[in-house]
Amino acid sequence: MKKKPKLRTWIQLALFILIAIIAVNHTLVESGNGIPLLGSASLHAVCPFGGVETLYHLITADTFVKKIHESSIVLMLIVFVSSLFLGPIFCGWICPLGTFQEWIGKVGKKVFKKKYNRFIPYSIDKYLRYLRYGLLAWVLYMTAMSGVLAFEKIDPFFTLFQFWTGEVAITGFITLGIVIILSLFVERPFCKYACPYGAVLGVFNLFRLIPLRRNINTCINCKACDRACPMNISVSTSGKVRDHQCISCYECTSDDGACPVPNTMEFRTNKFKTEEIIK
Ligand code: SF4
Ligand code: SF4
Repeated sequence: MKKKPKLRTWIQLALFILIAIIAVNHTLVESGNGIPLLGSASLHAVCPFGGVETLYHLITADTFVKKIHESSIVLMLIVFVSSLFLGPIFCGWICPLGTFQEWIGKVGKKVFKKKYNRFIPYSIDKYLRYLRYGLLAWVLYMTAMSGVLAFEKIDPFFTLFQFWTGEVAITGFITLGIVIILSLFVERPFCKYACPYGAVLGVFNLFRLIPLRRNINTCINCKACDRACPMNISVSTSGKVRDHQCISCYECTSDDGACPVPNTMEFRTNKFKTEEIIK
């Protein structure tokens, strides 16, 4: 039986289309033909990472880095508050680059079946996952020193939604090409290994107020949650998932996710009732 698309799928699709429309409209506005009622927002104006990139200049000089607007600060704060409660839900539900990688991943899954997303040995993969923190440090340092968006030249998100404008550097096309090819073998490779914004939001997993919990008393150890996790997190061996790579996608949960046992894998503040009774 064909599976019904999930709520997450619809939200991802809608936001991808919205961002694409905003990007195209901005180009049209610059040539005097913008879509009525849509305003003139640029891609930078709707990106919350811009808020993080400009923080140093905002604090030290009360100015914004070139191309960044107040809206990025507002979006940054909204995403931070949502992450404080639910972790990086922005990555799992909203970011169009994450969605794009998932769509390419569907081709990889068809070709490689169970091997998909399992090519890199754990002994190497676990270190590669920290690369994104190095990239974050580089981006923040370079942006602070130069006053321009240092990441833009290699940003696959910027390339994906601006490739027709002539503003994209060749390095941007190379990065996007690498992301597309890797996505055929690895699920969300950019999120796992390179995204500086994912690095920031991943930290919220360590203390978010609504953690992902596994009910160890009802769990049948089928490992369906492990197989469903795009970030290769070992969900079935965790009591509370605090992995810095979780993107709060709900794919492992009992609520519309892979876990076949009701009330076993859930985002919740308190412990499971059955857990308390059996203990
Ligand atoms: S499948 Fe579960 S553990 Fe894996 S990223 Fe999604 S919510 Fe986090
Ligand atoms: S999918 Fe559910 S029942 Fe299966 S191992 Fe994971 S938590 Fe346990």
